[in-house]
Amino acid sequence: MGPACSIEVLGSGTSVGIPTIGCRCRVCGSDDPRDSRLRTSILVQLSDGADQRNIVIDTSPDFRQQALRSGFRRLDALLFTHDHADHIMGLDDVRPFNYGRRDRIPAYASPSTLKSLRRVFPYAFSGQATHAGGVPRLEAIPVGHRPIRLFGVDFLPIHVLHGRKPILGFRFGAAAYVTDQTVLSPEAKAQLSGLDVLFLGALRHHPHPTHSTVGEAVALAAELRPRRAFFTHMCHELPHAATVRELPSGMTLAYDGLRITVGV
Ligand SMILES: [Zn+2]
Ligand SMILES: [Zn+2]
Ligand SMILES: [Zn+2]
Repeated sequence: MGPACSIEVLGSGTSVGIPTIGCRCRVCGSDDPRDSRLRTSILVQLSDGADQRNIVIDTSPDFRQQALRSGFRRLDALLFTHDHADHIMGLDDVRPFNYGRRDRIPAYASPSTLKSLRRVFPYAFSGQATHAGGVPRLEAIPVGHRPIRLFGVDFLPIHVLHGRKPILGFRFGAAAYVTDQTVLSPEAKAQLSGLDVLFLGALRHHPHPTHSTVGEAVALAAELRPRRAFFTHMCHELPHAATVRELPSGMTLAYDGLRITVGV
């Protein structure tokens, strides 16, 4: 039997976050905590007896706040879907997780995402001894098509398109996390069959060149048939309660702080 796995949604909002600066719409002004959305990221926790491992997918600009809110106290691996600012710009804030450990935290991403990470945060990957100010100490590990074995669980990279940009999702056990997707190849769809839990990006109702609408995400979930589908990366045009009421059964919107357990 593999480790117990839980997923915590650290952020479910699109790139500007909700509330959006300067906006007075009803979602940005909502009292419903599920309408407050930090930038998109999840924490995957694998527990094996006393041993708990924490894997974060994407370091959003809200990473510090997300880590404090979640309360996780160690970081064992980072996975990246792609190099857009809303998915990487919190990377500098992983520093405290390096305190008290000598090894580097592994950071898994496609070669093109790693190139961007090295350009934006060169000091985090440098092999040299660093100056007195703390810096993240990361090990860049390129991801292709083969599964990444992390703490007894295979994380399978799922190659999808985000508009014209190739990006990654990840499948682990009966769960998969795919955000910012638009088009999925037949191979990617086959890799996402038989799921218990599937996360998919769903930006808003009207079309967008590089993001799926709610309708497109619903259609994709209906095709892939996970037992439970959670939509994420929403903008302020989607009030949580009203949007969820309109979704087919087995599909709902994720929200910050949502925790679910899955089989791996
Ligand atoms: Zn994004
Ligand atoms: Zn708004
Ligand atoms: Zn993106």
